[in-house]
Amino acid sequence: MKQLITILFLSLVLNGYSQNSIIGFSSENTDKQLQLEKSFEEKLNATNLDEWMQKMAAEPHWVGTEFGEKNAKWIKSQFESWGYDTKIETYQILFPYPTERVLELTGPTQYKAKLTAVPVEGDPFTAQGDALLPSYNAFSTDGDVEAELVFVNYGIPKDYEELEKLGISVKGKIVIAKYQGSWRGIKPKLAAEKGAIGCIIYSDPEDDGYGQGDVYPKGAYKNKTGVQRGSVMDMPTYPGDVLTPGYAATKDAKRLDRKDAPTITKIPVLPISYEDALPLLSALDGTVAPESWRGGLPITYHIGPGPAKVHLKLTFDWKLVPAHNVIATLKGTEFPDQWVMRGNHHDAWVHGANDPISGLVALMEEARAIGELAKKGQKPKRTLVFCAWDAEEPGLIGSTEWVEDHKKELQEKVVAYINTDGNGRGFLGAGGSHSLQAMVSEVAGNVVDPQTNVSVKDRRIAANMVNGSDDSFNLYALGSGSDYTPFIQHAGITALNLGFGGENGGGEYHTIYDTYPHYKRFKDPEFAYGVALANTAGLITLRLANADVIPLNFSQWHSTISNYLTEIIDETENMRKEVLKHNKMISLNSYALAADPTKKIKTPTKKELIPYIDFSPLQNELVILNETITEYEKINTSSLSKKSLKELNKRLMKAEQMLTSEKGLPRRPWFKHQIYAPGFYTGYGVKTLPGVREAIEQKNWVEAQEQIEILTNTFKNFNTYIKDATKNLK
Ligand SMILES: [Zn+2]
Repeated sequence: MKQLITILFLSLVLNGYSQNSIIGFSSENTDKQLQLEKSFEEKLNATNLDEWMQKMAAEPHWVGTEFGEKNAKWIKSQFESWGYDTKIETYQILFPYPTERVLELTGPTQYKAKLTAVPVEGDPFTAQGDALLPSYNAFSTDGDVEAELVFVNYGIPKDYEELEKLGISVKGKIVIAKYQGSWRGIKPKLAAEKGAIGCIIYSDPEDDGYGQGDVYPKGAYKNKTGVQRGSVMDMPTYPGDVLTPGYAATKDAKRLDRKDAPTITKIPVLPISYEDALPLLSALDGTVAPESWRGGLPITYHIGPGPAKVHLKLTFDWKLVPAHNVIATLKGTEFPDQWVMRGNHHDAWVHGANDPISGLVALMEEARAIGELAKKGQKPKRTLVFCAWDAEEPGLIGSTEWVEDHKKELQEKVVAYINTDGNGRGFLGAGGSHSLQAMVSEVAGNVVDPQTNVSVKDRRIAANMVNGSDDSFNLYALGSGSDYTPFIQHAGITALNLGFGGENGGGEYHTIYDTYPHYKRFKDPEFAYGVALANTAGLITLRLANADVIPLNFSQWHSTISNYLTEIIDETENMRKEVLKHNKMISLNSYALAADPTKKIKTPTKKELIPYIDFSPLQNELVILNETITEYEKINTSSLSKKSLKELNKRLMKAEQMLTSEKGLPRRPWFKHQIYAPGFYTGYGVKTLPGVREAIEQKNWVEAQEQIEILTNTFKNFNTYIKDATKNLK
């Protein structure tokens, strides 16, 4: 009876998939694959995720700690027990540890910042005292400065435009900026460019404290003492070890002198809590901050400068520490030299229950289930490589050094890299190479959302529609912020980033409160979304590993890329209209007439006109590319010989590399991808078609035209590449 029910259930499930085929699989291999996926799903066990999190998040484990090394060794032993060939690859990286942190208000009143988060009841992990990493921003330079304070809102480009309108300069001052609004490293970078000599970053309660909900331990949000740690390395220039740009930080590598390392900040920078920020902001006077700048503190927000005067002194122990990457391999039966890679970091700022352990335990559960299937004879056709990266937090260092070390081999062998990081409850977020969108969408349609029992794809679409988008499932474009960056943006490897979230808000990110008790209460209590992540990433991995044809789709890729170009053209038009309107208002003296005469607002001057830019080379090339892709997608891959399939797959593996240029982006040659890059002034935030887009945003018209030519050539090469693939198969 039980067997009959199983068979019935199985056929229902298979029918439920309602697919005679899945992307990349012949009809005869489709059933086999769906059976395998079902066995895989059944093996996933939430209890493992829970237990492993308790083990790996028991103590702080930033790079270089004993507990971090212990975790790496334990991860290795786990993979070995599941049948993986596992090694630890270690690099020697520069990692600053804070030895002196002083922040004091020296006038007109006195206050000495506490710079310490307090332990809370019910969470013993927060009471580990000296074992907790002091709050600081890694790769701030050493410094000892004293100056008047200026409040700069989030400290992003548009805030400085506002300051200029108000006639306020930060030259020779210390700025205080709110967290959020951009990646944190942009704040000291921009402040230094504007002439500031120090930078303080604080968490405003409106953003992730009592303005959002109850604070820890009552609720998930940031209490008044919580401080977000984090790297301020200039990652948009290059991530990874600051002393070995573009090559591996091996023991004997030639290293830059620290004073020449371009990605260490130019001015000292320190993060603080809102308890410590309040006396500083209260002591500011002068212009009242614009309404949109005001936060959730019970004060009138002033910009200054002064009369508040602060003293900031920071000293670091700059030493080389070992970063241990765990690399676990399960050899493929048919195509051992084609690798499907999966990665998540293992280092944390403190305990890191959410960031990164919640993602790491999902990755490990996938690997365990796949390992079990392999032991029973169901081995993947392609080789699987699972990675647990070290030193992600200080600047994607473990993964970057590894990719730089193995770049040639990876460009030959890797089919795709699938990344995860911290995970939570809610909606599937998937970003990456748009050639993978069709396949990811298909998989998301087959994974059940644990709370609603619809597919994670349908739930995502529902949320998108409620928030005003259309009813499609799209990959977002990758900027930066996790370990996919070296793969896609440096090596040109097809990549994805996956995670669930949206219903797990909190203020624990990079604080001493990102602990197991916090995670269990506020994130994913039953690890149901941990299992959903293991399921989603596992199915994608298994499809890439076993597909007859590597499941890339270029027509979706083409429409996405065309949209990016349309976006840039529209934005350029908007810039033109705004400049014309602005200049008209100058002619009419409108700004002066509309301003409050008692406030000394600086009247702006006329702006340079936006020239017409010739986008036609790109537009024409995209039309040609569309024809080529249409021809390519007519190929009936099921009729191809084994030899032709092999050749086609070899070509598909390297397709993403055709979208890179060896010279890289202007002023940052490490970033080679021509479609996706983190913004030079947004940090994590992506800039698509970055060469062209950023030149226009920076009003560098000569460079814009040059970049259009470079991108046109990239599309031309890509066109030839796909055309040749099509020709060879005919
Ligand atoms: Zn992380």
